[in-house]
Amino acid sequence: MIKDKVAIITGGTRGIGFEIVRKFLENGAKVILFGSKEETAKIAVEKLKAENSSYEVMGLFPNLSDEQSIRECFKNIESIFGHIDILVNNAGISSSTKIEEFTMEEYEKIENINIKSAFVCSKEIIPYLKKTKGVILNTSSMVSKYGQQSGVMYPTSKFAINGMTLSLARELAPVGIRVNAVAPGITKTDMVASLPETMIEPLIKSIPLGRIGEPEDIANAFLFLASDMASYITGQILGVDGCARN
Ligand code: NAD
Repeated sequence: MIKDKVAIITGGTRGIGFEIVRKFLENGAKVILFGSKEETAKIAVEKLKAENSSYEVMGLFPNLSDEQSIRECFKNIESIFGHIDILVNNAGISSSTKIEEFTMEEYEKIENINIKSAFVCSKEIIPYLKKTKGVILNTSSMVSKYGQQSGVMYPTSKFAINGMTLSLARELAPVGIRVNAVAPGITKTDMVASLPETMIEPLIKSIPLGRIGEPEDIANAFLFLASDMASYITGQILGVDGCARN
């Protein structure tokens, strides 16, 4: 569906991001995955190459909220691959801290990783995507509709991602760039898999489709939105949550 497209995926070393990388490779794309550390980016690339040695995948670890390092990184990627077609802003961290216990350090960390990185990467990718009529995709969350009972900055950051998605879709439509987001419900990544059964059971009961999402459920939505099958879709926040309403 995305044969020979060149895709950059932030937070691509594990969880949802890793599954998006795998799905894009399976569908013929060349992928540059971004991780937070050299080691984890290397391990992710080795794992994918072990699955299929013909996959064209590269791992990098730039500082996502630093304009200069992202600018240089994208320039290098274009010089190696010839073009850039898709950016997925997926890196993110969550929080369950109560408001009264929030430190400004945690506030800034969430703001940097969840919002500023998506802003910087989106800003710096535009010259490349203008040439290819490319696509920006963001990872939002179900909590961007309903909030959550603690960790206020996490849903706040995802509301911001929705705002960025809706606004950039309008701003960039005239130059042929589509911008959409996927809003996963609770998804079985490392973090969720390690929760005790007593916490998981009530969560599952609250989901009408009767199960937690798999990373592949989420990756399928990204694949569709990245492909030409979604060529008339922009400015959408696609919920992939089993109809959960927490
Ligand atoms: P995860 O913790 O398994 O993966 C997070 C990814 O972000 C990793 O690849 C990590 O390297 C990267 N990352 C974290 N901090 C970084 C930093 N400082 N610099 C660069 N990269 C950094 O989490 P996940 O569950 O796969 O989450 C991926 C995205 O999906 C996040 O944006 C998250 O908010 C969103 N999401 C997850 C769920 C869920 O239930 N798992 C639900 C809704 C939305």
